[in-house]
Amino acid sequence: MQQLLERLKSRNMHGYLARDRAEAKELALGLIPSEAVIAMGNSLTLRETGIFDALTDGRYNVINQFEQGISADENLRRRKQGLLADVYFTSANAVSLDGELFNIDGKGNRVAAMLFGPERVIVVVGRNKLVRDQAQAWQRLREATAPALARRLKRSTPCAVTGTCADCNSPERICRCYTVISSQMPAGKDRIHVIIVNEDLGL
Ligand code: SF4
Repeated sequence: MQQLLERLKSRNMHGYLARDRAEAKELALGLIPSEAVIAMGNSLTLRETGIFDALTDGRYNVINQFEQGISADENLRRRKQGLLADVYFTSANAVSLDGELFNIDGKGNRVAAMLFGPERVIVVVGRNKLVRDQAQAWQRLREATAPALARRLKRSTPCAVTGTCADCNSPERICRCYTVISSQMPAGKDRIHVIIVNEDLGL
């Protein structure tokens, strides 16, 4: 794990180890500058760690695209606003031991915010998402993450049935964007903060 933190640092990202979800939550919330406008991607990890509930309990200035009852137009507007938030919370679908972050996304706003826009990106990752290398990362995304996500969202996709990717063109396809964050510019070295949690979290 220390080696992974060093690899993240060499890629101009900050890495942290958290013993459990409670410590991860404390670490993550402690990285929020005062008065920051916050947005977040859809993430089971953020919910399982209690970070989502903490961010939406009224203490923080949050652009909440997940608020119950808002229209589809308002949801889209908030997703766009999230790209200009000060702080963006998310997980990653896989992190290689070499320090690269791998993600799939449907609409793309989550990965867009990770790539550019918010001044700080806080990525909370369970140990189950650590992979050896790029090849294992893509395998995880296509054979574990996407099928599990499709089932959870009740999407009618081949992977939801078979458990593996069939490179579909389904209208309900959930994996329309694939991204790798390999490093940050030196000037952006304080932008991405990756908290690795010593618990299984998320999909
Ligand atoms: S392309 Fe289709 S089958 Fe493959 S992971 Fe994505 S949704 Fe599933």
